[in-house]
Amino acid sequence: MMNTEKGLLIVISGPSGAGKGTIYNKVLALRPEIRKSISVTTRAPRPNEVEGVHYYFRTIEDYQKMIAEGAFLETASVYSNYYGTPKAHVFEMLAAGNDVMFEIDTYGNKQIRAKYPECVSIFIMTPTFADLEHRLRSRNTETEDSINTRLGNARRELGEYRDFDYIVFNDDADSAALQVAAIIDAEKARMFRNEARVNELLLKK
Ligand code: 5GP
Repeated sequence: MMNTEKGLLIVISGPSGAGKGTIYNKVLALRPEIRKSISVTTRAPRPNEVEGVHYYFRTIEDYQKMIAEGAFLETASVYSNYYGTPKAHVFEMLAAGNDVMFEIDTYGNKQIRAKYPECVSIFIMTPTFADLEHRLRSRNTETEDSINTRLGNARRELGEYRDFDYIVFNDDADSAALQVAAIIDAEKARMFRNEARVNELLLKK
C-alpha cells in the first residue's frame, strides 16, 4: 500500500454512451471539494469546449513529445484520437491531500490501476445493451458503423469488469451519481486510509 495520507484517486470509466460524463459532472456538483483532472487530447475542440477547462487540445506532434517526455500517467487512443492524463498536476493535487477524479476509457483505467493500485475505479454501465444502443442513437452524432463499433467495444469493456472495484448501473443519472458519491464517502472512511489520523489521536493525551 502506498502513502495513505494522500488524496483519493477516483476513476470513472465505462463504455461510450453509458453516461459517465454526465455522472462525473453530477458527482462534482455533489462533492465540490473533489478536484477534476483535465486531460490532453489530439481531437478537435467541439463548439462549446474551452482550452484548459474541458481539455488541453494539442497537435499529434506535441502529444508525441509529451509521451516521449513521460508526461502522462496514462495515455490511450480512443476512437482515432489520443487522450492522456498529465501526471504533474495530478500528483501535486494528491500530495496536497485533495481527492482527484478522472473520466477516462477502460485502457486508461488499466494503466492507472497498475501504477496506483490504491485508486478506486468505478465502471458505469446502462442497465441493458438495448439502453446503450438507444442512448448512442439518440445522440444523433454517430454513424451506423460507429454505433456498431461502440456496441462491440461495450461488450468487451463490460467483459473486463474485474478491472474495477465497483459497477454502477445508470438507470437514472441522479441516482447513479448519488451511488458514486456514496462509494467515494465509504472509500474515504476505509480503515487503511485513516491509520495516520488514528495514530495521531492515540499519541495525544
Ligand atoms: P470525448 O471525445 O467524447 O470527450 O471522450 C471520448 C472518450 O475518451 C471518453 O470515453 C472519455 O472517457 C475518454 N477520455 C477522456 N479523457 C481521457 C484520458 O485522459 N485518458 C483516457 N484513457 N481516456 C480519456
